[in-house]
Amino acid sequence: MANSLDIKFPLIIVGTQWGDEGKGKIVDLFSKEATHIVRYNGGNNAGHSIVLNGEKFKLSLIPSGVLHKKKLFLSQGVVINPKVLIEEIDFFEKKGIKINLTIDPRCHIVMPYHQELDRATEVWKGKNATGSLHLGIGYTYEDKNNRFGARFEDLITPKLLKEKLKTFFPLKKLQIEKVFKQKTKLNVEKIYKEYVIYGKRLKKYLGDVSFEIGKVLNQEKIMFEGAHGTFLDGIFGTYPYTTAVYTISGGVFPYVGIAPQKIYSMGIVKAYTTRVGNGPFPTELKEKVGEAIRVKGHEFGTVSKRPRRCGWLDLPMIRTAIRLSGLDYLAITKLDVLSGLKELKICVSYKLGNKTIKEIPPLMADFLKCKPVYVPLKGWDKEITESKKMIDLPDETRKYVKFIEKELKVPIKIISVGPERGSNIII
Ligand code: GDP
Ligand code: MG
Repeated sequence: MANSLDIKFPLIIVGTQWGDEGKGKIVDLFSKEATHIVRYNGGNNAGHSIVLNGEKFKLSLIPSGVLHKKKLFLSQGVVINPKVLIEEIDFFEKKGIKINLTIDPRCHIVMPYHQELDRATEVWKGKNATGSLHLGIGYTYEDKNNRFGARFEDLITPKLLKEKLKTFFPLKKLQIEKVFKQKTKLNVEKIYKEYVIYGKRLKKYLGDVSFEIGKVLNQEKIMFEGAHGTFLDGIFGTYPYTTAVYTISGGVFPYVGIAPQKIYSMGIVKAYTTRVGNGPFPTELKEKVGEAIRVKGHEFGTVSKRPRRCGWLDLPMIRTAIRLSGLDYLAITKLDVLSGLKELKICVSYKLGNKTIKEIPPLMADFLKCKPVYVPLKGWDKEITESKKMIDLPDETRKYVKFIEKELKVPIKIISVGPERGSNIII
């Protein structure tokens, strides 16, 4: 199904870097066209921000289509911290925005002991800590995979919730106190009392997302909103500095519960590279230019507030992302942030020993040794946020965009030139 943006549905939005590519804004743009918006992976460790009339909305669980009042879904691949979800629902409802949300009964629930275990593990890892935000997301997925977790169906059924907590908590307590030698004030009764209230509140959102979406996949305009970026993929990302989930497009099939078939995908490419926390980053700029990009691009975590590491655009990464997710279209974001820099660089390949490689190598030990091969490009001075068409952009800016498109061989359909909803060039 096509639309005025000339993009086909069903559509997946995929971050092509380490997250924070500006997916929220692009998802918001497509939400106008889409009828159903499905968040299909991750938990409240992913943060999206969208800006409307100068006001910034931060979302960590509610799909970005909320401002367009579309049908919103949390599929089973998402893990839910019910307290956070309720806070987000309240925030929008207080603003008079009604939430039309369906939550799959198979979604796993983040428990307070997951958060305590998360914190305890990071302390234990010391300098090798993965930089987890202690939100308990990794532990929730661990329990999910180990069949030791509570699902949304348990949360909304007090008897089941109590039974599950009685089974799980004693072991968790032993882990926290005996393995990690940390203290916990948690007990079954306390967690139950808190969570039963969340269950009552959220019960009305129960629905079979797999069935609902499968039924209309090719009739309605369905958009799948991926959290995180390609290189935070738990397997194909820069392991172990990753999340616990698949972030590549193929994850959508099991994470929603639909059969493999053609789903269009749009990769979001920030005009430069950022990452939060530890892990390899070949094009990182540690000095003045990196700091200039960080300040101009407000590169501080949505959830964590941590300063993001900044560097030049890395095309081997994007090429790898295109291959892994079969990307049909690209959107370039935050191009305006590069205005004012004298010279820009784009990494076109890596040197690994005496070999030149065009994609991220499979061994992380090799990735750490990769040296970027740069092509320098001229910068531009003019601010470009008001640009509405390609022709409005300075020559150097157009050259920067065309260079990327030529190297990657995937059409660039959107250029985002500012945080506001309307600051886009649609191609
Ligand atoms: P996400 O996690 O991929 O949705 O990205 P985040 O929301 O964490 O980070 C993107 C940030 O950049 C948000 O604060 C957006 O408002 C902002 N943003 C998005 N697109 C643009 C753009 O084209 N230019 C500028 N200057 N900011 C943008
Ligand atoms: Mg983010």
